[in-house]
Amino acid sequence: MYPRMRRYLHYLVTVLLALLLSLSGVVCAQGVWVVTDIQGVDYVKLSDVWKFYRFTPRMGRPGCVSYGSGRHVVSLKANQQDFYVNNYRYVLSHPVREHGAELMISAIDMRKLVDPVLRPRFSPNARLRTVVLDPGHGGHDAGAVSAYAKEKDLNLAVARKLRRMLENQGYKVVMTRDGDYFLTLQQRVAIANSVPDSIFISIHHNSGRKAAAGIETFTLAPQGTTSPFARTRRNADLAGNNQDSENIALATAVHSRAIRSSGAIDRGIQRARFSVLCTIRRPAILFEGGFVSNPAECRKMATSAYQNMLAHSICQGVVAYNNTVCRPARSVAASNTGAGRVRTSISGSRVGTYSRKK
Ligand SMILES: [Zn+2]
Repeated sequence: MYPRMRRYLHYLVTVLLALLLSLSGVVCAQGVWVVTDIQGVDYVKLSDVWKFYRFTPRMGRPGCVSYGSGRHVVSLKANQQDFYVNNYRYVLSHPVREHGAELMISAIDMRKLVDPVLRPRFSPNARLRTVVLDPGHGGHDAGAVSAYAKEKDLNLAVARKLRRMLENQGYKVVMTRDGDYFLTLQQRVAIANSVPDSIFISIHHNSGRKAAAGIETFTLAPQGTTSPFARTRRNADLAGNNQDSENIALATAVHSRAIRSSGAIDRGIQRARFSVLCTIRRPAILFEGGFVSNPAECRKMATSAYQNMLAHSICQGVVAYNNTVCRPARSVAASNTGAGRVRTSISGSRVGTYSRKK
């Protein structure tokens, strides 16, 4: 054999060996994620999930299966879409399923919700200098109306207080409206998309049955999932966006603080295809700060003290989001490397760390 060819073969074997070792490292460290098709949706075993995060059984919500570690306790129930992390409610895109003796969670919820929530991490593309605040409705569009308040006024009041607080923290703030006038949804999105290094927070207040109460936060439904909050039933076909991890991290940071500060009923972080969330090219949430249609809740919401509290908790959420997702803290960056593997190993890519069962 020519020495040159031998050198080449030696190089090839070394590369293949390194590749194999790195792959087997993935398999050994994380086990094989068996993906099971249940009614056309990819599911993974929760026992594998617990193993991966080194979770053990915990005391959690009554009637739920609860697992956790020092930092997180996760609670869920078979056949339900409710998913709790440290007692904050999330709504899964697909229900938890029973499959034989196993509880299963959908692979897309695992990738797009569970992992980014349990391990929010530095994202090299996420930069935050400007917060775009979008007080919903305005002008002839009052939003929800009751004897105590009009939604458009509450939205603007909270946004103005929040603007001051964010500016005190050193952020630039752009308001989609700073007065009582009407803007189309497309105009709001166009403003947000024109601001670089920004996030988008649309502020609304809710309307429903008289007894309905509490706070809920919406993020865009990831591609491949359906959402009850969409215009078309075929909404699983619609595109998601590139900020799924950032969206859910921002929602978590803001929503958890608002629930903690207000003591309001936790209606959860939910997925939607609202117009303002569908075409936005920035990390974005739509925050619903309580029910105008609930007299007791609306009376509180109309006070400056309550609006200050809401604004303060959203501001704290933005700061926490920025510290985790937009700044390369050493410890966060280090855990980032592991995170990529989870994504590849359960996303059905060709890494070979999962196998498929029917
Ligand atoms: Zn509204």
